[in-house]
Order: sequence, then structure tokens, then C-alpha cells
Amino acid sequence: MTCNCSICVREREWNEILSTGDVEKIKDLFDVVRNYLYQTEDDLNWAEAVIDGSWPNADGVIARRRCVTMANRKRNEAMSEAEPAKP
Ligand SMILES: [Zn+2]
Repeated sequence: MTCNCSICVREREWNEILSTGDVEKIKDLFDVVRNYLYQTEDDLNWAEAVIDGSWPNADGVIARRRCVTMANRKRNEAMSEAEPAKP
């Protein structure tokens, strides 16, 4: 069975582009990968600053995130309990 998670879908797309051997398509893919890397580094730096407390109001950022996570978890639990049982 083919996995359709975002990582596997992206991996298949990138492998398809690489397998073409088309230099222009591969250059475009490199730009996409480079942007992913920069975005990921930015996200990691921000997360580290929040965790180590150097980000402004880091404790508030964490508290809000936990509230949202807990609310989503409760909503998902309530929705799954409300679903009719599958045969
Ligand atoms: Zn997957």
C-alpha cells in the first residue's frame, strides 16, 4: 500500500523529478529544497529561542500553544466518540 503522508508524497514527487535528468527541473527542485531548508532552520531557531526563554514572552507562547493543543485534542476525542461505530 502506498503511504500518502506528506513526507512520502513529497519523496515520490522529488524522486520523479530527479529521475527525469532534466537539468532545469532539477535546478527548480533544488530551489524548492533550499527553501525548505531555510524555513526549517528558521522554525528550529524560533523553537529553540522559545524553549530556552530568549524569545519575547516565551512562556506565554508555550502556554497558548498548549491551550490550542489541548482544545484540539478534546475536540478530536469528542468527535471520535460521536462517530457511529463502524461495522
Ligand atoms: Zn509516509
